[in-house]
Amino acid sequence: MSLRVRVAVWIAGAVLLCGVVLLLMVREGVRQALIHELDANLRAEADEILLEREQLVGQPERLHEIMELQALGHTDRTWYSQLLDAQGREIYSTTTTPVLRPRLAHLPAGQPESVNNYRVVERTSTVGEQPLAVVRVGTSLASIQDDMSRIDRQVMFAALSVLILAPVAGFVLATASLRPITEMSEQTAKLQPQNLEARLPLRGANDELDRLATVINGLLGRISIYVGDHRGLMANAAHQLRTPLAAIRSCVEVILGEDENSPENRDTLLKVIEQIESLESLVNQLLLLAETEVGNLRPAAEQIRLDDLLQRSFDMFEAVAESRGVTLQLGHVAQAAVQGNLHHLRQVVNNLIDNAIKFTAIREVGPRTISIGLNRREHAGLVELQISDTGIGISPKHLPHIFDRFYRADAARRNDGGVGGNGLGLSIVKAVVESHGGEVQVKSVAGEGTTFTIRLPLASAEVLQSP
Ligand code: ADP
Repeated sequence: MSLRVRVAVWIAGAVLLCGVVLLLMVREGVRQALIHELDANLRAEADEILLEREQLVGQPERLHEIMELQALGHTDRTWYSQLLDAQGREIYSTTTTPVLRPRLAHLPAGQPESVNNYRVVERTSTVGEQPLAVVRVGTSLASIQDDMSRIDRQVMFAALSVLILAPVAGFVLATASLRPITEMSEQTAKLQPQNLEARLPLRGANDELDRLATVINGLLGRISIYVGDHRGLMANAAHQLRTPLAAIRSCVEVILGEDENSPENRDTLLKVIEQIESLESLVNQLLLLAETEVGNLRPAAEQIRLDDLLQRSFDMFEAVAESRGVTLQLGHVAQAAVQGNLHHLRQVVNNLIDNAIKFTAIREVGPRTISIGLNRREHAGLVELQISDTGIGISPKHLPHIFDRFYRADAARRNDGGVGGNGLGLSIVKAVVESHGGEVQVKSVAGEGTTFTIRLPLASAEVLQSP
């Protein structure tokens, strides 16, 4: 269950509970107010009869008449009064007095009581401590019950409305209160490891969410320093390795130049140079990878003519491809400039063409062609570079991993007939393209061929500059 639904259920539950408790309290309050009013009336009427009784001593008929008139004057036909002597014997009773008279067990003087669905009050007139007469006045509780059932219907209607409105209110309130969290998670999802400088915006409310954003920003800051240190370390290590490697290489070349080397030694020295070359290539690739990742090592971006760059790479690889039985074709090449780093972009193009040649040349049967094209996608503000080969292709099992560092599919890794490489080429391609705000796409069918597509943003003002 999502947090939003849970919060909505809590709010709905709380609203429902408060609503029902409030309605019940109001209902009880109204009931008590009605009874209180009735009690006050009954008390006043009983006192009135006692007063009349005192004034009409010796005129019992007149008193009875007044009591009867009082009963008739009530719209409520259940109203009645009784006059009792000091011993509790009935002296007089109105005609409306119910046959089954409510029996009063022990009425504290003047305290109204509910008996047999009647509300009854008893008042006593005394001379000193001696009771002289007792007056009872009562009325049925039916009218109050009628009022209460009308109120109950209203309460039920209100409760039903609360029942329907509470979930709606809960959902609306939950959505509104969780909106900042939703926005924050959307912004957090947009954070990329390539751009660890990005931070979550603070809303300025200085509330829990702002504090959470501050905590996340602090964590991002620490991660950024940590990752920066590591990337710097890789860049430094790769950089430091270049000088000793170059020194070793020149020493070996000096020894190789000497005449007294036996043919076996020459062979060994040539193999050493070959290994140094592949080490140099690995170090250069690691350095380039580190450079693309450490933003501050990247030289200032310049306008690069991608079409010229492509033409130069094509010229460089054409003969190599031919020597390996592969036809390199240059299709439509549109004029296009991008903003970026020439050295890094050249490496991207070279890596892709080099791979295409490598993995097409090892194909035993079928066509061996590589097509290269460059097209502008003006509406999207992009330039699209495509390199398609009819090589061995990449199986779906390997496809998701080919951009991982040091990843090589089976055919490339095989010792017998495997092709050279260190598995860094495509990770460099991806890192460079993404650091230029572009994207890489690959489509491949095992045994048929592979197409790499690179999209880069066109330079905003195309001041074309040749590489
Ligand atoms: P490397 O070429 O040094 O092995 P890459 O990172 O350039 O490393 O490529 C990773 C893997 O992706 C390769 O080992 C290979 O299996 C596969 N691959 C790359 N390009 C192609 C291609 N054009 N055709 C077939 N497989 C390819």
